[in-house]
Amino acid sequence: MDGNKNGLQMTFWGVRGNVAPAHASTVFGNHTTCTEVRRPGRPPLLFDLGTGAYPAALSLRGQGACELDVFLTHLHYDHLNALPVWPPLYLPDCTIRFWSTYADLPQVFARLLASPFHPVPYDKLNATLQFEVLPTQGSRYLARQGLTLSWGPLPHPQGCTGFRCDDGTNAVVFATDVDLGAARQTGILPALLSHPYPAGLAVLDGFFTDEELARFPDWGHGTWRQGRDLASACGVDTLAITHHHPDHDDVFLAAIEAAAAPVRWAREGQTFHLHDNRVQRITPSRPEATPS
Ligand SMILES: [Zn+2]
Repeated sequence: MDGNKNGLQMTFWGVRGNVAPAHASTVFGNHTTCTEVRRPGRPPLLFDLGTGAYPAALSLRGQGACELDVFLTHLHYDHLNALPVWPPLYLPDCTIRFWSTYADLPQVFARLLASPFHPVPYDKLNATLQFEVLPTQGSRYLARQGLTLSWGPLPHPQGCTGFRCDDGTNAVVFATDVDLGAARQTGILPALLSHPYPAGLAVLDGFFTDEELARFPDWGHGTWRQGRDLASACGVDTLAITHHHPDHDDVFLAAIEAAAAPVRWAREGQTFHLHDNRVQRITPSRPEATPS
């Protein structure tokens, strides 16, 4: 019996690692990382501001007051490259709360939004920006969203944070940009995946093939096989792979996915719907909201 009738949803606005691929992808997508988690009828949580944050913002337009919660896994470019042109930053009635482990995030933003990189300086943005500094590891109830957020550090050059969202019945884990071999040793990601109960959906870094990982072992990424083994050991029901390598085109990714079933490869625009802590339905992108 599903204690939470509304379930939990995860929408992928960008699933590409590093940069858009050389040949446009019509199946898996071209945007870099941005993922949305929400309980239906509640405000969303956005994870990362890769270029996928741009269509995410357009989708959220017209859904009432502009009060956004954005969680940053880390500050590498592919997770932040929508920032300078992100529409909510230029809306005077918008309040954006940035949640991260970086105490100096306002200073980082001021450096990024400065001459000669950007014509609008940080202190001239129209929106109200708020900054919530998270400890390296912890758990917190988010009353607006009605979700418990848990997080912890992931092995990746300069660090990264993995997140778990839990409504008491359904749980999703988002762990992009992670050396999955090292993460399995630390125990932090396994704990996010399995505690207090196994996640119904885990989204894990599958940037590399086995051969690519052997060539670039220190880049802080994983393979789908590592993700599958870890998710399986932790009792995760559904695994979706993300942070697709820009050299991996639609044909290549579809072939791996077919051979790796039931592991799925995240597709830009898809929403995974969880009830009873299982993915019951996968839908294409939500209909566009009516512009306000
Ligand atoms: Zn990345």
